[in-house]
Amino acid sequence: MEDVDDFGPEKIVEVYDPSVGMRGVLVIDNTALGPGKGGIRMTPTVGIHEVKRLARAMTWKCSLAGLPFGGAKSGIVANPRAMSPKRKAEIVKAFAKSIQELSPSRYICAPDMSMAEPEMRIIAKVNGKKSVTGKPKELGGLPHELGSTGWGTFHAVRVAAKFIGLPLKGATVAIEGFGNVGWFVAKFLCEAGAKLVAVSDSRGMIYNPGGIHFEELAAVKKEKRTVTKYLPGKIMPNDAMPGLKVDILVTAAVPDFISVRDVKRIKAKLIVEGSNIPMTASVERLLWKRGVTIVPDFVANAGGVISSYVEHRGGSEKKMFKLVKDIVSKNTLKVLKEAKKENITPREAALDMAKQRILKARKQS
Ligand code: GLU
Repeated sequence: MEDVDDFGPEKIVEVYDPSVGMRGVLVIDNTALGPGKGGIRMTPTVGIHEVKRLARAMTWKCSLAGLPFGGAKSGIVANPRAMSPKRKAEIVKAFAKSIQELSPSRYICAPDMSMAEPEMRIIAKVNGKKSVTGKPKELGGLPHELGSTGWGTFHAVRVAAKFIGLPLKGATVAIEGFGNVGWFVAKFLCEAGAKLVAVSDSRGMIYNPGGIHFEELAAVKKEKRTVTKYLPGKIMPNDAMPGLKVDILVTAAVPDFISVRDVKRIKAKLIVEGSNIPMTASVERLLWKRGVTIVPDFVANAGGVISSYVEHRGGSEKKMFKLVKDIVSKNTLKVLKEAKKENITPREAALDMAKQRILKARKQS
C-alpha cells in the first residue's frame, strides 16, 4: 500500500482499458478546498508514486495560490512519440471514460507533459466542459499554450533575483526544457535582458557561454525539433546542466532533474522550479545550506493552475496574465521573506502557509 499522511491522498485509482491498451492512474490528494485540480501527463514511465507526489504538489499549489481547488494529478503510461495522433486520441478518450464517475465532481483535469489543447478537447467531449481546463478557445477555454506557467515562472525569477540582489540584466541563465514552460521563460527572461547560455530538451543540451539568441533558437526548435541543432554552441548531455557556471538555473521539464550528486557542483545562486518535483525537499535543504536560493515548484509554476481557475470562472486572457503575475510575484516574495526571517528553507516557509489554509477549511467544514 502507498503511504498516506494527514493530508492525503484521498483516492488512488488505477484504470485500464485492455480493448485499446490504455493504462493510467488518477490520484486525488486532498479536496478540503474544492475539487482536486491537476494536469494529466503521458510518459512511458509515469506511475502511482510519481503521480502521488505530483498530486501533493498540486494540493500545496492551489492552497498557496488561494484557489478554490484541492490537489490531484493523473497519468497515462504510454510513449507519445511512438504513436500516431489517432492512437493518442483513442487512448485519451479511453482514459477520460474511465474516470467519468469522478470528474468533474472530484477531479478537474488540465494539460501537463505531452498533453495539450487537442487532448483537452477530447476530454471535454467525453466528460463535459466543466471537467477540464486548458481547453481550446472556441470551447470557452484558455489554452496553457498561451504561456501562463512560463509567465508566472518568469515573475518568480524576477522577484527572487531582486530579493537576492542579482540584476536580471546580464545575468546568465540555463533552462532545462524548451517545451511549453521553458520556451516562455526563455523568451521573457531574454526580453528582460538576461543572457541565455544553456537550454536543453529531450535530445540534449546546447551550451554557449557567449549567449544564445532566443528567436534563432526558437526557429531551430520549430524546424529541426531540437535545440541541439542550434549554432554556435556545444552539445552536451542534459546531466551536465546542473554543473554549469550560471547565475540562474530554471527547471522546466522532468521530475528529479537535480539529484543529491549535483549539490556540490551547483554554481547557480538562484534555482527556480518551473517544473514539478525537480528535486526532493532534502536536496533543496542541502542546496539552501550552501547558500542557493530556491523558489519551490508549487510557488513558481502556479501560473498554469491560476490560468485554469480564470478559465473555470469564465475570465479573459488579459485577466489571466494579470492574476498569474500578481499571485506568483506576491507569493515568491512572501515565501522568501518568511524563509529568511525564520531561517528555514523557502519550501518549509511555503508549506506552512499552504497547510494553514487547508487546516482552516477543514475546521470550518
Ligand atoms: N499541469 C499544470 C500544473 O502542474 C496545470 C494544472 C492545472 O491547471 O490543473 O500546475
